[in-house]
Amino acid sequence: MNAPTPSVRPEVSKGTPSASEGFDTSARTDSVVLDAQSLTKHYPVSQGFMKPKAVARALDGVSFTLHAGKTLAVVGESGCGKSTLARQITMIETPTSGHLQLAGVDVGSADKASKRLLRQQVQMVFQNPFASLNPRKKIGHALEEPLAINTPLAKAEREQRARAMMARVGLKPEHYQRYPHMFSGGQRQRVAIARALMLQPKIVVADEPVSALDVSIQAQVLNLLMDLQDETQVAYVFISHNLAVVELIADEVLVMYLGKVVEQAGKQALFAAPRHPYTRALLASTPRIAPSARQTRQLLSGELPSPLNPPSGCAFHKRCPHAVARCEVEPPLLRQPGDGTTIGLVACHRAEEIG
Ligand code: SF4
Repeated sequence: MNAPTPSVRPEVSKGTPSASEGFDTSARTDSVVLDAQSLTKHYPVSQGFMKPKAVARALDGVSFTLHAGKTLAVVGESGCGKSTLARQITMIETPTSGHLQLAGVDVGSADKASKRLLRQQVQMVFQNPFASLNPRKKIGHALEEPLAINTPLAKAEREQRARAMMARVGLKPEHYQRYPHMFSGGQRQRVAIARALMLQPKIVVADEPVSALDVSIQAQVLNLLMDLQDETQVAYVFISHNLAVVELIADEVLVMYLGKVVEQAGKQALFAAPRHPYTRALLASTPRIAPSARQTRQLLSGELPSPLNPPSGCAFHKRCPHAVARCEVEPPLLRQPGDGTTIGLVACHRAEEIG
């Protein structure tokens, strides 16, 4: 949470040939590409011989929509449910309940063939690009592989597209023949982004994509992601614990705590006037964001409770400086505060009082 803030859009990959040819740039920016309603994921957890299984509520009724060309940032501490959410969106796991629509298709009722096509529409970029690349395959092969598996394109066409994409993400032609270990961390993340975009997906889920990089490289990769979004209208689900990074790239922010959304708002509204005490605490621990206001805010104390045994009422009440008796027994609903001063949703009984 204390990583320094990369600066916005320094010079990066400018002057490289555009490879936007081949992209479907016709997607309307107002079209919904992802619709999640009451997504829930519970994991049974063994408690020992002859004991009933416990249930870890990793994701508990999360709803949001994402439009083409937009970035939804999902923030919160480790264990808040961010990565569980990513696994549902990318169809790595099946939600316990709830509805998920990707590119207009209901995932729950899609048959095998439809799911295969949908998987092409949702790609992922991981925190550690080295782990997501086969060390024995050259970069050219890594980029062509999604095309070889999912399209009937001939080798020459695949290579042409791979080389065009390499140029677009700021890699040189000679990199085509190199192995992953021959690249820096930033270059490897460029390769991972290029690979994710080879099938022209509508959604890219980026799970902490810059947190392992130096700050100057972070800025380059963020700028690359934003440039590519401008060109292709791809939508990002951007998972991060670093609010300074989120402030640069997000359009909307989802703040999660113990599997639930506690605040949801446009970036400007959330960073200018966070309503939930947890959001405030996250912001207070982030460098460079509203430093004057931060001085008056409470820092986060204590540990995230276990999802196996979440606190009663508001799950945040044991760490919240504003908690009252009601908070210990009654779970707050995610709602628009009644004071009419905000655009966004907050799950706090006292949102109006604490301002
Ligand atoms: Fe704090 Fe109560 Fe609001 Fe939860 S509902 S965030 S405990 S004031």
